[in-house]
Amino acid sequence: MKLYNTLTRSLEAFEPLNPPNVTLYTCGPTVYDYTHIGHMRTYVNNDVLKRTLIFSGYKVKHVMNITDVGHLTGDDDRGEDKLEKGAKKTGRSVWDTAKFYTDFFFKTTDALNIIPPDITCRATDHIKEMLQLIGELEKKGLTYKTKEAVYFDTSKFASYGKLSGQKLSEKLKGARDDVYLDPGKKHPTDFALWFFRVGRFKDHTMHWNSPWGDGFPGWHIECSTMSMKYLGETIDIHTGGVDHIPLHHENEIAQSEGATGKLFVRFWFHNNFLMVDNQKMSKSLNNFYTLDDLKKHKIEPLAIRYLFLQSHYRQLMNFTWESATSAQEGLNKLKNIVLDLKKEKTSAKNSAENYFTKRFNDALSNDLQTSQAVAVMWEMLKTNLSSKQKLEQLFEFDKVFGLNLEKTSEEKIPREIIQLVEERKIARQNKDFKKSDELRKKIKSLGYSIEDIKNNNYKIKRN
Ligand code: AMP
Ligand code: ZN
Repeated sequence: MKLYNTLTRSLEAFEPLNPPNVTLYTCGPTVYDYTHIGHMRTYVNNDVLKRTLIFSGYKVKHVMNITDVGHLTGDDDRGEDKLEKGAKKTGRSVWDTAKFYTDFFFKTTDALNIIPPDITCRATDHIKEMLQLIGELEKKGLTYKTKEAVYFDTSKFASYGKLSGQKLSEKLKGARDDVYLDPGKKHPTDFALWFFRVGRFKDHTMHWNSPWGDGFPGWHIECSTMSMKYLGETIDIHTGGVDHIPLHHENEIAQSEGATGKLFVRFWFHNNFLMVDNQKMSKSLNNFYTLDDLKKHKIEPLAIRYLFLQSHYRQLMNFTWESATSAQEGLNKLKNIVLDLKKEKTSAKNSAENYFTKRFNDALSNDLQTSQAVAVMWEMLKTNLSSKQKLEQLFEFDKVFGLNLEKTSEEKIPREIIQLVEERKIARQNKDFKKSDELRKKIKSLGYSIEDIKNNNYKIKRN
């Protein structure tokens, strides 16, 4: 299987360190606000990666963190802690805020049929381990202390910048100096490992004792700590959004490799953004949509999953309600096909089956070309394979797509629709075709279509 590795900026053949086991770490959400479908593009694509690995016979151990402390509004140590900000907004405690939005996150990932990680771990449950790691870095001479924080000294880590392909000197030039900076900070690229409860943080709710003083962890240290604790010092794959490349992941590498002297991550897998009108869908731009918005627009969460499958994870993707609606229509069509195939009973064998499996595998093995895999599925459904073979093949493909097709069942048609259809039947019997046509249009606008079969009988389907 070939995967694009951000570290080497090239497509590489993926082989885990200890086959058939694969160690996979995902940067989880910062739980201070509602999860939106922009986040979900990243988590669905990570799930497709994980499912593809499982489909290919690997045993995946998957860990994801929950950030519930230390992530400031500016990723580069500017601003305030997002959790404190969220708590102020909701009027709840920081702990309740974290719990509320964590629950919402998992409600969303469940709705999108994302397989939960084997281990989900909260930053606030790992303070002791984080302090140990900071201690290691201190012993190696990679840290310094100011009145405000303990910092990682990026000038002491020779390969700082290797993930984003920028030398430290370039990074320094790019770093913003028009914002508040700790006067004791030596280089703008240095980042906090531990903040003290002083100055702008003097009222910080979450705080712990440490050998350096009372305070709370910086954002990056949690992922180094939890990745190494649960998966070992060197792991196979680490995932996140492309926004994590220049700071968060660069800093995770500095912390982990600075402490162990070993390679931290073999493959860095980064997802590109879901956009709205050429801007990243984000909480800060207030251009985001949640599960509730999908419901209002009568779009199933799995239709959004189907929509995401149609673009490559490294490409930007623009979200529109039109595209969501056509994804819903596509999903409805698929479900109707499943129901029809279940009713048919042909069983003749045809050798084309392996041909599609091979093409499906080829598409996914080529850096997860999901849209090609979807095209292979539609092609397969149009062949003369028996219905039994088609269903088997479709359910096999769906182990990666995750559209829950096997669970498709005849849905209950609402009474309102049945009544309209009955009225239309009477209109047709009376040869009132104008009325019958109007009723068909009305039924269509409510999301259903009628297929006439013989003797004034009909089938009702979702559009
Ligand atoms: P956060 O909770 O902000 O730390 O984000 C959680 C994950 O969602 C990160 O991996 C982000 O890169 C990703 N993410 C946030 N917004 C988007 C977006 N519009 N499109 C794709 N991924 C996103
Ligand atoms: Zn992380």
